Amino acid sequence: MTINKELTAGDDIDSRCLKCKQVTNHTIAAMVGSKVAKVQCNVCRALHNYRPVQVEKKTTLRRSGEKSGQPVKTPRISKELKAENNFRELLGGRDPLAAVRYAMTKSFAEDDLVNHSVFGLGLVTRVIPPNKIDVVFKEGNKILICAAKVKK
Ligand SMILES: [Zn+2]
Repeated sequence: MTINKELTAGDDIDSRCLKCKQVTNHTIAAMVGSKVAKVQCNVCRALHNYRPVQVEKKTTLRRSGEKSGQPVKTPRISKELKAENNFRELLGGRDPLAAVRYAMTKSFAEDDLVNHSVFGLGLVTRVIPPNKIDVVFKEGNKILICAAKVKK
């Protein structure tokens, strides 16, 4: 790029034309000192103030950057998050590692922590004699089969 090139009226120069809505070739119509003041579009013949091409590009870039920098709000997860928080509260900070792996051949007691292969961590809220338990999982309650409670 030759920056030191002396421009004079009558020279060709690229400028953004508002009528053509693009950068077009212009002829310099007027100079103010060493700066281009007025240009005439070679395409539509409109006479307007000179708009440097590079400055236009920079402005556009910065604007689009600000737009994409804004955080995208996702309020859809709030319902799921609430359910998970309720579940955590129900577990009362109990150690998930202490959960007993669920199997229908095992027997469970109320307040037992179970680990189900499909539903995950759950809490036994009710024992339904003779062989069912009501377990609350993160996604809701499930009635599960278990071995009949054997009295110790
Ligand atoms: Zn034009």
